[in-house]
Amino acid sequence: MSTLRFRAVELAQSRPIVEVKTPAPNVTEYFGLKVFTHDKMKKILPATIYDTILHSVETGVSVDRKVSNHVAEAMQSWAISHGATHYTHWFQPLTGATAEKHDTFFETNGNGKAIESFSGSALVQQEPDASSFPSGGLRNTFEARGYTAWDPSSPAFLMENKNGTTLCIPTVFVSYTGEALDYKTPLLKAVAAVDKAATEVCKYFDPKVTKVIATLGVEQEYFLVDRALFFARPDLLTCGRAFIGATPAKGQQLEDHYFGSIPDRVYAFMKDMETEAYKLGIPLKTRHNEVAPSQFECAPIFEELNIAIDHNQLLMDLMDKVSVKHNFKVLLHEKPYSRINGSGKHNNWSMMTNTGKNLFSPGKNPADNLWFLSIFISTIKAVYENADLLRASIASAGNDYRLGANEAPPAIISVFIGEQLTNVLDDIEKKKTNNNGDGGKKSLGLGIPKIPEILLDNTDRNRTSPFAFTGNKFEFRAVGSSDNCSSSMTVLNTIVANQLSEFKKEVDQKIKSGKEKDSAILDVLRSYITSSKKIIFGGNNYSSEWAAEAKKRGLSNIKSTPHALDAYISKKSEELFLKHHIFNEREMHARHEMRLENYIKKVQIEARILGDVALTHVIPAAVNYLNQLFQNIEGMKKSGFSTKLAKPQVELVKEIAERIAKIKTSVTQMTENRKKINDLIDSRKKAIAYCEEVRNAHFDTITYHCNKLEHIVPDELWPLPKYREMLFVR
Ligand code: ADP
Ligand code: MG
Repeated sequence: MSTLRFRAVELAQSRPIVEVKTPAPNVTEYFGLKVFTHDKMKKILPATIYDTILHSVETGVSVDRKVSNHVAEAMQSWAISHGATHYTHWFQPLTGATAEKHDTFFETNGNGKAIESFSGSALVQQEPDASSFPSGGLRNTFEARGYTAWDPSSPAFLMENKNGTTLCIPTVFVSYTGEALDYKTPLLKAVAAVDKAATEVCKYFDPKVTKVIATLGVEQEYFLVDRALFFARPDLLTCGRAFIGATPAKGQQLEDHYFGSIPDRVYAFMKDMETEAYKLGIPLKTRHNEVAPSQFECAPIFEELNIAIDHNQLLMDLMDKVSVKHNFKVLLHEKPYSRINGSGKHNNWSMMTNTGKNLFSPGKNPADNLWFLSIFISTIKAVYENADLLRASIASAGNDYRLGANEAPPAIISVFIGEQLTNVLDDIEKKKTNNNGDGGKKSLGLGIPKIPEILLDNTDRNRTSPFAFTGNKFEFRAVGSSDNCSSSMTVLNTIVANQLSEFKKEVDQKIKSGKEKDSAILDVLRSYITSSKKIIFGGNNYSSEWAAEAKKRGLSNIKSTPHALDAYISKKSEELFLKHHIFNEREMHARHEMRLENYIKKVQIEARILGDVALTHVIPAAVNYLNQLFQNIEGMKKSGFSTKLAKPQVELVKEIAERIAKIKTSVTQMTENRKKINDLIDSRKKAIAYCEEVRNAHFDTITYHCNKLEHIVPDELWPLPKYREMLFVR
């Protein structure tokens, strides 16, 4: 009898529903309670100091010592009044998680007395030991120093634990030689680049535009599983993914989970998570069930991009912490269960001017349309030109399981813009004047058709597209659920910045040679449509027809991470990154190296755990059953039954023995391959070998036979919680 599994199922079924208390009935009363907001700063700081900070946030200019001392003092007294005893620079190293190194607020003076102290220099800069964070070769161990530097554009906040409160100060993390070791540094540069380029373009249409802010709303998908079941699954515990597991009789085919009500225990978790998020100023707005059983989603109101990403990182942390109270484990893996929908993180991205205009909102009057179209078509062109780099930005071992499987966008990057806008672009390209039947009244003199507003309507959406225009924003859906969005957003904002600056250059040239501004713009847009329309696709991205069609169009379909990552270090990407000062050459190669290393490690761990579970859980269970069958056959023989009667048992014995042999052979071969591959020096070759000779060559074989055994071995002997238990018991 397999005791752990049954104990876990029993526990999972009898969990109490935790009552969640909110600090006040209305969210407005406690929203941002634990954040050192601009409002709070304004109240505490002298006006001149506050203005300097604002200026620094807007322009990116660093603040001087006097100012930082003032801010540090204000921050400290606010934090201490809320019970904080420690402070930490909070940063996003390339490991994927967030990192902290706590320091107390007190120091000792010469007389051994403790005094409270937190200086401007401690606020502005810290030196955590960088040697244990991945750097992709940027740092030798003798040069282990890295430093964190305050990012005044993202507000400080308090993290509460059972045993204390810590002031967290968002920072960037760079090596002693000035190279980025984190996600935030290049992101801030990309956001600045897109601001600069888009502002220049906006000036064609409105000279009052002096700043463009990239905005982001991150829809976060996740699975919940009971903690006891989670801990009874070594693969889930170690990798966040249940490799082995036969498809349950009932999966998601009835879609009853998606449309059903949120289970009570899950509801309590969500409310708890939201309450904690509100205290931290994370504006969660929606919550609902997702398609797969036990899969859910939450989405915030969009914010300035850098802050939205900090908040998403913080949210992932928070979800994990809060889930403990409810005896859940949050699974952020892109594909926790085979053959069941995976999880993504839809990045809803747009740009907003300082004058309050959303650059992806088609205007109400035709004159505004040229503005919208300039930004819109340049973005499409940017995606077309850099599709491989975008693909690279979302590549990870986890996402490889998700892309192109069970209702997830494929690895082919394409853009969905809806039928109406497709027609608009078509008309522009073919120089057709308005054909909407309104006699051209609604069109510009240039023949730009009126852009209908009904795009905001939900019906005109394509859920299968990796990069979809959804009325007033683009939604990048290929991003993996556990990713730090900085990676994809750094690339997206850089390529759009680049395209917009090209656009400006081309238009200016035409104006210089005597063309009128509007027709110069239209000429350039027309050429963009012609050169990049291949990337536009409105059909079913999940279909095999699309894969074939995309191939004909010459679009890439790069299925595995090690190959996808090549685009990071192509000549073209290098030019792009250098031109916009996002990465220098060393940083670029370091990131490539670091992501390969990450991939290698992940697949290595997966292979180990899969081998381990197969050999120490599955095979022993199967052998137990074999023994029972033997005894039974023996017994029948002894009792004088004809051998014919024992035929089914003999067949079972044969099948089990064969499957055991296949599993054993595959695991052994996989281990041999790993040993051989580990000797490779070149990371790219090593990653490809891990992909082909470990993952592709063996994972499916091993899991296939294990899953077949799950269907034969008596339920009471099966040691691993089954899919139906993990997906439906709550
Ligand atoms: P959906 O379009 O996916 O049905 P919503 O329209 O509610 O759902 O938006 C999903 C996400 O897109 C939310 O996080 C929302 O804040 C975000 N979003 C909406 N408008 C913008 C914008 N202008 N810029 C960035 N994100 C936005
Ligand atoms: Mg969406």
